This record gives sequence, structure tokens and C-alpha cells, in this order.
Amino acid sequence: MFSYRHAFHAGNHADVLKHLVLIHSVSYLQEKDGALLLVDTHAGAGLYSLREGFATVSQEALTGIDRIISNQDPQTNYSELQAYIDLVNSINPPNRIDFYPGSPFLMAKLLRTQDRLRLFELHPSDIDLLEQNIKQLHLDRQIEVRKEDGFTSLKALLPPPSRRGLILIDPSYENKQDYFLLETCLTEALDRFATGSYLIWYPILQRTESIQLPKRLKAIAENYGRPWTHAELRITHEPTERRLQASGMFVINPVWTLHPYLEKLLPTLQTALGEDAGASYRVLSSQT
Ligand code: SAM
Repeated sequence: MFSYRHAFHAGNHADVLKHLVLIHSVSYLQEKDGALLLVDTHAGAGLYSLREGFATVSQEALTGIDRIISNQDPQTNYSELQAYIDLVNSINPPNRIDFYPGSPFLMAKLLRTQDRLRLFELHPSDIDLLEQNIKQLHLDRQIEVRKEDGFTSLKALLPPPSRRGLILIDPSYENKQDYFLLETCLTEALDRFATGSYLIWYPILQRTESIQLPKRLKAIAENYGRPWTHAELRITHEPTERRLQASGMFVINPVWTLHPYLEKLLPTLQTALGEDAGASYRVLSSQT
């Protein structure tokens, strides 16, 4: 327990996919004035240095944000990525990416005065870093950081008084229990707030729980009669699993623009982040 530190993975290809889906979904929901509750059940440290510490050991940003920034050429249409690139640039010195914003920081940057953000984190070091990183934003009235189990604490926040909410569920899956805890968390949340947008990230690995997860999530969504959208991105297909090669986002109650957005985004990401002929993607939705 707690060997996982997101700093090793900050800004990698999986973060890029997850954070693009997150930004698109929050931004679309904010087209209406009603207050939004945003929740990150597994928040991490919130902000990561790419120039010192764990990220320099793993260098995973080279598979993600670094490739996006360095590959920006006028031939490639990066319009689907622009809001994300602007947010990443907004916390960095000009023409350099020294820091990568985690999901708490991205959501904090998107908050309007009427919105609220609730962050859960359990790691003894990352909770301190998260509190420090969020404190510097001076948004104490809108953001709460809690050292609690996000899987079990989420339900107490639901439904939000405005009945408008987006919940990112992004476990580390460091032990296989996470796959089952995720399902319980999700059904408890849907029991209370069936219309919330639930964004679930997962790694694509050669283990039974990972292979079965999208099917199980689809069954949950359909059991509640809720629409879903599902996207996967693979950057390479190596026979060994020495590193994460692919990941997915499963969204229950997606904003209606998500599927068309992903149909444009994923080919761009395959070109920008694909390392060889093993790169691929897929986008599926309940309505298509
Ligand atoms: N959402 C973050 C982002 O996109 O920037 C990354 C989160 S990372 C994949 C998962 C985090 O969940 C880790 O920091 C881990 O310590 C934390 N964690 C693990 N189990 C948890 C639990 N039951 N409740 C809350 N946080 C947990």
C-alpha cells in the first residue's frame, strides 16, 4: 500500500488522455451558469516538477506532454489540444515546461466562483504536497482537501445541491482490490446521483481485472440506464509490460460533445504520441 507516487508518471501519455477528457467535459458543463461540484477521488499531489525529483528518474513526460509541446508544428491540427496546452503553459515560465499540473490543479484553474472542488488523497506525503500546492491558489472558499478514502467518502458529497457534478475517479490500481472498490464506489454514487458525469481512468494491462474492467463499467452504466463513452489510446505494442503502453477513459453520462471531440482528438494523439506501428486508438459510445 502506498508505494505508488504519481510524480513518477506525471505528464505521461495516460495523463494527457485523462486530462484532455477532463478539461473538455468540465468546460462544456460550464457553458451553463449553474454551480458545479467537481470531485477528484484520487487526487495525487496536484502539481509536479518535471525538472527535479521522481519525474526526472522515470522521464515519463517524454511519452506525453513533452512530445505534444515539442511536436507542435503548423502542419498538425492541434486545435483539440489548445485549451490543455494553454493551461499547462499558464503555470510555466515562457517557452519551458518545468511543471505539470495534475487533475486537482487543472480543475482548480477552471473553477468559476459558483463552483466547488473536493479532493481526496491518502498518501502521507502526497496529501501534504497537495495541501501546499492548493494553498498557493488562495481558493480556500471553493476547494477542500481531505485526507480520506475517496472510494468510500464520495457518496457523502452526493447529490450536490445544484444537481450538477463531475467526478473523476482515478485510482492507482496498485493492488487488484482497487478494481472492485471502484465498482462499489460507482454504484453507491449512481444510487445517489444517477445524472452526474463520472470519468474513470484505467490502465490497459495484461491482467484479468484490467481486461474486464471496460465491460464491467459498461454493464453498470447500462444497468442504471445511463449513456457512456469509452476511449482508449495505445502508444506502442511491445511484447513485455516493462512500462504502461495504453490506457482508457470510461465516462458515464458524458457531455454530448465528448464523442465527436474524441473522434477528432484520438487520431491527433495517435500521431503525436504514437511511437511505432503498434500505436492505435478506439472510441465507442452507447449512442453510436
Ligand atoms: N488524479 C491525479 C491526476 O490526474 O493528476 C492522479 C492520481 S494517482 C493515479 C492516484 C492517487 O490516489 C495516488 O496519489 C494515491 O496515493 C491515491 N490513493 C490511493 N488510494 C486512495 C484512496 N482509497 N483514496 C484516496 N486516494 C487514494
